[in-house]
Parts: sequence; structure tokens; C-alpha cells
Amino acid sequence: MIKETISRLNNELPATVKLVAVSKFHPFESIEEAYAAGQRIFAESRPQELQAKVRRLEEIRAERGEPAYMSDIQWHFIGHLQTNKLKMVLPYVSLIQSVDSERLLSAIDSWGAANDKVLDVLLEPHVAAEETKQGFSPEEISLLLAEAGKYGHIRFKGIMGMATFTDDEDVIRNDFASLRTIFDRIRSDYPSLSGSFTEFSIGMSDDYPIAVGYGSTMVRIGSMIFGARNY
Ligand SMILES: *Cc1c(COP(=O)(O)O)cnc(C)c1O
Repeated sequence: MIKETISRLNNELPATVKLVAVSKFHPFESIEEAYAAGQRIFAESRPQELQAKVRRLEEIRAERGEPAYMSDIQWHFIGHLQTNKLKMVLPYVSLIQSVDSERLLSAIDSWGAANDKVLDVLLEPHVAAEETKQGFSPEEISLLLAEAGKYGHIRFKGIMGMATFTDDEDVIRNDFASLRTIFDRIRSDYPSLSGSFTEFSIGMSDDYPIAVGYGSTMVRIGSMIFGARNY
């Protein structure tokens, strides 16, 4: 099933859209199965779980004496990240998609300075109707990017967004349109960034076909590939 779904998604998605397999709450074996089907980018939302999976992979490499096993796997982080958990995440990920506050951004920048590493990040604006969602207002993003130069160990790669959790397609379209406006505005207001500010990460299992219509460059698909999650 995992293999078939990945093939189907790869056939269906335009070449400009990267498939990110959201493996949270699923066992390492499911990741191996997806990897065997050609999937390379995986996303996790909880620091402990990401770290456990990275360690599991290291264990397997050691057991088999195959240090290169799955060596081109890429991990993205897509969950709420507390500043006291950075060291469980930042050494392992190629992209932090869910930077939702200036405080977190500053902490990532400091970690990068201390560890001599430049971190790729997406900023997460808040457009969905849910009150509890984390994220920046468009104004906060503008203020922050006006001072982008002060973050010497951050590379701003784009934005990540989520639509309101609803079956109402009009609401979802409206949210994706708002995210698109934010993305386009940043690219035109900050031309010095726009060469690398290219990722527009929208779309999940239930709404990715709509997201592709709004110019998504990265869809984050979990349950459709791996099945329902047992929280
Ligand atoms: C869990 C999660 C997804 C994947 O959701 P599915 O509906 O299972 O595809 C995508 N993005 C974020 C930020 C998530 O937390």
C-alpha cells in the first residue's frame, strides 16, 4: 500500500512539487518501506520521536555493518518546537518547516552560531480559523524579514501553512489564497531574499490537490501514505 500510494502521488504531482512523507506516529519499518519505494524526504512533528527514529537508523546501520544504509534520507521538522528541545532536532534535519515565533527563530540562530551550522527554515504564518494555532501574522513576518540580516545562521527558504480543519472547500481555498498572498508579498518586498525564498509548503492528505492549484512546491502527506495515526 505504501509503495503504491507513493508511486501514485509521484505520477500525479507536477515535477515542481516535492513530496514530503509525514511519518509521525508510524514505526520505522514504515519509513523503510517508503524509502524502498523511492521516497527520500520524511517529516516528523515531535522531537523525541524524530530522535528515536534517527537512532533506530543508526542502530540498523551498526547491526548490519552498512554505514551507508539510507544515507540520503532527509528529515524535516513540522511540529511545534520548544526552544529547550533544539538539540534533539537541529543536528538531524535539513529543513525546519514550522518556525512560528521570533523567539524560536532567535534560538535556532544562536544554536547555529554555537554549532557552526546554517539552518534552512520556513516561516509559518497563521491564517486558519482555529484559535489555538501557532504562527506569525503577515505583519510580524514583514518586520522580521526587514531585519533578516541579523540572523547570520538562518537561511529563509519560504513559508509553510495549514488551512482550517474543515470539509468546506471554499474555506480551504480562501486560506490557501491568503497564504499565497503572504508568500508573493514577501518575494516582491524582499527581492534580495527571493532567490532562495522559493518554498511554498501547503497541502496535506485531504487538501493537497487544492494546494497544488495554489502553487504549492511541497506537499506534506501522512495518513494517505501510511494510514491512520493512533494518537
Ligand atoms: C500531521 C501533519 C501533516 C500530515 O497530515 P495528513 O493529514 O496525515 O496528511 C502535514 N503537516 C503538518 C504540519 C502536520 O502536523
